[in-house]
Amino acid sequence: MGKPLPVINSFLSSLSSLGSQAMTRFGSGGGKPGMLGDGRTVDDFKPYLIALNLTKRCNLKCDHCYLDATTKMSGGHDELSTDECFRLIDQIAEVNPGCLLVITGGEPFVRPDILDIARHAVNHRFMVVFGTNGMLITDDIAKKLVDIGVMGVGISIDSLNPEKHNIFRGLPGAFEGALAGIEACKRNGLQFQIHFSAQPMNYQELPTVIDWAHDLGAKVLNVFFMVCTGRGEELTDITPEQYEEVLGYLVECQDKYQDMLVRARCAPHFKRLAYEKDPNSPITKAQGYMGGGCLAGTNYARVTPNGDLTPCPYMPLSAGNIREHSFVDLWEDSEIFNSFRYPHLKGKCGDCEYSEICGGCRARPYVDHGDWLDEDEWCLYTPKGGEKIQVAFNISEDSSITWDSAAQERLERIPYFLRAMVKKGVERHAMEQGIPTVTIELMEELRKKRFGNEKPVFKF
Ligand code: SF4
Ligand code: SF4
Repeated sequence: MGKPLPVINSFLSSLSSLGSQAMTRFGSGGGKPGMLGDGRTVDDFKPYLIALNLTKRCNLKCDHCYLDATTKMSGGHDELSTDECFRLIDQIAEVNPGCLLVITGGEPFVRPDILDIARHAVNHRFMVVFGTNGMLITDDIAKKLVDIGVMGVGISIDSLNPEKHNIFRGLPGAFEGALAGIEACKRNGLQFQIHFSAQPMNYQELPTVIDWAHDLGAKVLNVFFMVCTGRGEELTDITPEQYEEVLGYLVECQDKYQDMLVRARCAPHFKRLAYEKDPNSPITKAQGYMGGGCLAGTNYARVTPNGDLTPCPYMPLSAGNIREHSFVDLWEDSEIFNSFRYPHLKGKCGDCEYSEICGGCRARPYVDHGDWLDEDEWCLYTPKGGEKIQVAFNISEDSSITWDSAAQERLERIPYFLRAMVKKGVERHAMEQGIPTVTIELMEELRKKRFGNEKPVFKF
């Protein structure tokens, strides 16, 4: 656990279409060509986020590792070679060169070729981030990552009690090593964020950890909710009641930490709780992962060290192996992935009025009894049988602002789960400034104001 599951927060570059094949499969939902009937188009099923678990090797032996990672030296015999990694990256670029690649493991920095792989991805214009335990990040590595153009790293901290963290991570000195890695990032201008895995042993520490991360200068604090798989299968997950308690606290944190994004990851009913508190909350307006939701199989996938493509890191549900099939074919043709794109959810998730903004975690029922479309039993909510609460990309907001065709086209290239939020922000600015029509120039001006001239703010 503690693997980074980043989200994109920039205007993405031009994306290739999934094409007519997907249109044939899903059919046209009426309205303008390419629409699927609920506001999404085939272009919305692009990979925006791919986790590359490039090695099983690790310098730690964490209790909760979903990959059951092995030692630093062994376990690498069947992992993808450098050339296979390059080919995989080339194939992902065929579907979406603008997506965000999370390079992780095991511990990615035990691979001697990892910087070459990162460089290859950056040269393709991918946004590249690392998920790491931080221990192998020296000044030299941090500087090289900056020079290559890596956007940042997510470093896992499970407790501020070093002994507790070290026991959980399976190695004395793991805590001190992670802190040294964070300091190396700070010294070399490499952006970092903190990842915390909520478990029975540490969830009550969360308020302290959030304060600590804020003081440290982290821009993002991601709280991951473990799915008991891999070595974590032997662990006890936090109870649904504890889960709800933590999520409720995280919703409250949205207002408390204005300059640090605090998000629940892999806890989709975070969005239900946020909606209950405030239907207009930025969390409920932001779709998918940005708002704490789940993108598994729709815009998110994971590649295992030996090349299996799965909908998310916690589901060992392989659509096929990229040694035998192209990533492009697996992404576009897999029946498994298609079942996530228009899911027929079962049980209370199927009946739930929150199913479109939440939908539950699909990995939990899969790991529990093999049916990924079944209800998420870690949610305490009992559906009331009302109308489905609409997702923001489906809601047209009243506005007198118009968009010229180039600006509209650019808006539609933004991932659907961010689109409503971007649209609202741009229109609000236009109204305040008395600008009647949104143009590319205005969007560019706002992008620069928001993100600076260089790279987008690192938020994942
Ligand atoms: S299925 Fe569950 S574990 Fe996987 S990405 Fe979605 S919320 Fe996270
Ligand atoms: S019942 Fe399912 S869809 Fe409804 S809030 Fe809970 S997890 Fe989400």
